[in-house]
Amino acid sequence: MEKIYFDYASTTPVDPEVVQAMMPYFFEKFGNAASPHAFGREAQKALEEARETLAGLIGAAPEEIVFCSGATEANNHAILGVARANPEGSKHILVASIEHHAVLEPVKYLEKAGYRVTSLKVDATGQVSPDDVKKAVREPTTLMCVMHASNEVGTIQPVAVIGAIAQEHKIPFLVDAVQTVGHVPVNVRALAADLLSLSAHKFYGPKGIGALYIRKGTKVARFLLGGDQERGRRGSTQNVAGAVGMAKALELCVQRMTTEAQEQTRLRDRLLVEIPQRIQGVKVNGHLRDRLPNNAHFSFQGLETESLLMGLDMAGVAASMGSACSSGAMEPSHVLKAMGLAEDFIYGSLRLTIGRWTTEAQIAYLLEQLPGIVRGLRI
Ligand SMILES: *Cc1c(COP(=O)(O)O)cnc(C)c1O
Repeated sequence: MEKIYFDYASTTPVDPEVVQAMMPYFFEKFGNAASPHAFGREAQKALEEARETLAGLIGAAPEEIVFCSGATEANNHAILGVARANPEGSKHILVASIEHHAVLEPVKYLEKAGYRVTSLKVDATGQVSPDDVKKAVREPTTLMCVMHASNEVGTIQPVAVIGAIAQEHKIPFLVDAVQTVGHVPVNVRALAADLLSLSAHKFYGPKGIGALYIRKGTKVARFLLGGDQERGRRGSTQNVAGAVGMAKALELCVQRMTTEAQEQTRLRDRLLVEIPQRIQGVKVNGHLRDRLPNNAHFSFQGLETESLLMGLDMAGVAASMGSACSSGAMEPSHVLKAMGLAEDFIYGSLRLTIGRWTTEAQIAYLLEQLPGIVRGLRI
């Protein structure tokens, strides 16, 4: 049986062109970028070129980019780094209720350490309201975190408007842009972000490499203490092949963005329209217009996500509930709860995310299989 992948939001395959670009840095050009000899200088040059490319593609300056292991690290670096750099600050954090755990957990850690945390609620489509932000920023605030787009329901936030409010109140603003970088235009200045996190494996680059954008002048403490790599912000031998791959991956995404977004929107809309046509008791979640091109998210009344995913898996289809399930138990998602989903819809959620290699035939196969699977589970 052919295995079909509908889980591009959790990770993507690496584009073959990206692998090709990385290859030389595993053998002939394997040097440590911190070494002063020829091998090191060669690696250093590739690393700085990758930094320049990546920075340019998100509207940043090269010296504002810190390479790291991925977006979990980037978010931890940003949140804990801002807190540590402002020990005498207000000790108040504003955070969207629908953030990824890579933001929520470091914020929770600070809450335990004495910070006050205000959770920004969302409406039924999963959007934060700029009016709520305006009210919340009346209090002195150390840091505000609002993600660019939800990894679960695909809703894109009015980040530029929220960022302008943060800027006006001089509150450092962190944008987790993992789901948007490479998929929709991202420009750090247009979003008024002071800090922005991204991860290569969400846009056809390798796992284990990401970046944190730190706007010049933003006070952030050093994160990994060790050598003086990454301008002293992150000690550790730099992942040159990873950085080269990430820059190449984003370059390809930006070149193809308009066409890919159009094609994915078309396929995604088939799912959003045809699944509720073919199956009773289905709700489409997330914003219908302000939405990632590759995300379709549903709730099935009276179903359990776990059995739905198992049924799909048996039909060769890999899908997800919307967030990586780390605990093993399928608890209702904090995102759907924050959106106020009704009790009989909240347990049967399904996220279908498509990407570069999704075909019309795969969409047709899914549309053909799903009604039978749901019927079987509802008996
Ligand atoms: C995947 C993801 C992360 C975590 O990224 P890693 O690089 O895997 O650590 C953080 N935020 C969002 C929105 C994500 O989708």
